[in-house]
Amino acid sequence: KGQKEFELFLQNLDERLEKLQGFLAESKSQQLDWQGSSSDLDRQVRDHVQTISQEVLEAGDIDQLKVSVTSHIETIISAMDRFVADEDTRVEAMTKQMEAMQQRLQTMEQEAGEIRARLQVERVKALTDILTGLANREAYEERLQMEFERWQRYQQPAAIVVADIDFFKRVNDEYGHLAGDKALTIIAKTIENQVTDTDFVARFSGEEFLILFTETNKEEREKKLKAIQLAISKLPFKFKNDHVQVTVSVCSSEFTNSDIPEKVIKRTIDALYKQKSKGKEQFIYL
Ligand code: GH3
Ligand code: MG
Ligand code: MG
Repeated sequence: KGQKEFELFLQNLDERLEKLQGFLAESKSQQLDWQGSSSDLDRQVRDHVQTISQEVLEAGDIDQLKVSVTSHIETIISAMDRFVADEDTRVEAMTKQMEAMQQRLQTMEQEAGEIRARLQVERVKALTDILTGLANREAYEERLQMEFERWQRYQQPAAIVVADIDFFKRVNDEYGHLAGDKALTIIAKTIENQVTDTDFVARFSGEEFLILFTETNKEEREKKLKAIQLAISKLPFKFKNDHVQVTVSVCSSEFTNSDIPEKVIKRTIDALYKQKSKGKEQFIYL
């Protein structure tokens, strides 16, 4: 009977120790900082188990053995409880830390997104003419350079056009600068409406606009330019009860092999101004 009881007792003990081992193995595989307390526990358990084994080997009296083994097991369990409690505290602290970090990361991501959006807005602003909303000088210089390089590579016909409003000073002189500003804004829209998305329109300077055609042949370009001239001449401007007709002169130049962007622009402007003395609504093709 004693033998049986003892076997049962040992089996029970064996199961408990096995569970303990599994638990320790799991804890051990966790974070490095936990290694200290985990190996502490491990050492304690080993010591006690060692003692148990020793006592089992040397035991003469089963009841005495039971008392002794049970006491060791209890010590092991309370060591485990402490370990688990410590671990809970550690996990809680780490979870809090992780949550705080996540929160900070989220805030930073949000801020980064806002900065990116603001930069984008600033970039658009920096490249936009305030009055007309068209691309400004910086923007067209950048675009012209890019299109010129593309043209050098692919040699698809590309051209720039300078459009200059005829006698615009008169509008300002007779109807005031505000009227002139309004007219410029409407003219800018009108030009934009006559070209396609692949064409590029910019405000070149005061009452001069620049158009960059990259995917249109000569005929298409001519058609678009004529349409621009017609649309502008038909704009129903009315200042101080006067119906005012505004016209525009245009000069178009294709890129040639000996060109650089500045040279094309200069050639175009020079030709336009030379011709303008002959009257309004000039149409020049170089
Ligand atoms: P032309 O037919 O030879 O082109 O004569 P023009 O009067 O159009 O040209 P000119 O170069 O003599 O004068 C351009 C005028 O454009 C002078 C200036 O008052 C006006 N202008 C330039 N920029 C602006 C602007 O932003 N707003 C207004 N209201 N007027 C402007
Ligand atoms: Mg001018
Ligand atoms: Mg002018």
